[in-house]
Amino acid sequence: MEQIYLDHNATTPVDPEVAEIMSRYFVKDFGNASSVHNFGRDAKVALENAREQIAEFINCEPAELYFTSGGTESDNIAVLGTTYQYKRRKNHLIVGSTEHHAVFEPAEFLHQKENWELDFLPVDRDGFCTASDLEELISDKTALVSVMHANNETGTIQDIKTLAQIANSHKVLFHTDAVQSIGKIRVDVKELGVDMLSLNAHKIYGPKGIGALFIRQGVKIAPLFYGGSHEKKRRPGTENVAGAVGLARALEIASQRMEQDHKKLSELADYFIDKVDSAIADVAFNGSREKRIPQTVNLSFVGIEGESILLSLDLEGIACSSGSACTSGSTEPSHVMTAMGKPKIEAQGAIRFSLGRSTTVKQLDYVVEKLIPTIERLRSLSPVYEKG
Ligand SMILES: *Cc1c(COP(=O)(O)O)cnc(C)c1O
Repeated sequence: MEQIYLDHNATTPVDPEVAEIMSRYFVKDFGNASSVHNFGRDAKVALENAREQIAEFINCEPAELYFTSGGTESDNIAVLGTTYQYKRRKNHLIVGSTEHHAVFEPAEFLHQKENWELDFLPVDRDGFCTASDLEELISDKTALVSVMHANNETGTIQDIKTLAQIANSHKVLFHTDAVQSIGKIRVDVKELGVDMLSLNAHKIYGPKGIGALFIRQGVKIAPLFYGGSHEKKRRPGTENVAGAVGLARALEIASQRMEQDHKKLSELADYFIDKVDSAIADVAFNGSREKRIPQTVNLSFVGIEGESILLSLDLEGIACSSGSACTSGSTEPSHVMTAMGKPKIEAQGAIRFSLGRSTTVKQLDYVVEKLIPTIERLRSLSPVYEKG
């Protein structure tokens, strides 16, 4: 059976070119980048070259870029690391209501355990935050605003520039999680006007376990780890040289292919959406059709649970994702769908198909061919679905 992978927002295969360049730093140039001898120096050069390359890509200084173990860690440093600095003067943070758990949960931790006040910036039906809502929530008690650049479930691209400007005018720090946008659309920290930005490698054909956090010069941050002077003491731990090299190369390839990939994925996604829409009744598109990362196609099949669709498609060799979390037999719709105000009957049936470089029209045709009977069967069993 052919295996069709439509879960590129969860992770991507490593580009063979990236894997090859990395292997050198596992086997041959294996030195510890903090050692002063020749082995260490070679590793250090590779690490700093990677840093320079990534910094240039997002338009910051190399000194403003810190390597981490990935998106989750970058987000945690941004949320926890900055707020620790403000403990005495400020006690309020604002995060987008469709953020990734890597931002949500440290914010919840501060709220539950450290007495921080926490507000969620609402979104409209397409997943966009508004400037006026942010203006309303922000105050001189606010230490940080964190709103993601592109959403992982819907691909919706926020107007970060406008939101960051508001935070800026109130002298409040602004962080954005750019894990889903980096390498897919232009990400320029100066143009966006952000103080911090998270990115990683494994959503863009790089390795898992490496990421980076841009921290604008002058922003104070308390480290989460102690135990060495790596990354200027902000993120101690022996540097992941192979990972950093892999991240830089993955970004370089992504930037070279950006226009071409964007065009191809937009066309494939449009083809897929239209085909599903004409073959199956009661399908809702989730997110913004225009302002999104085109590879992300989030569809709700009204009246059935996303989990059931996911499992049925898996049996046909098709890998996709549902944002919902299954807890003790009942499915809770994802917080993203709930925040977007989707009615439960729609939110529960949300499925994310995320396309990638290997996706073909033939694969998408096969998916639709399998979806038609799957949806029909599941709806015939559904107690809530009523044919319109
Ligand atoms: C995947 C993802 C993360 C987590 O990144 P890891 O490198 O897997 O820790 C954070 N934010 C977003 C938006 C993501 O899609």
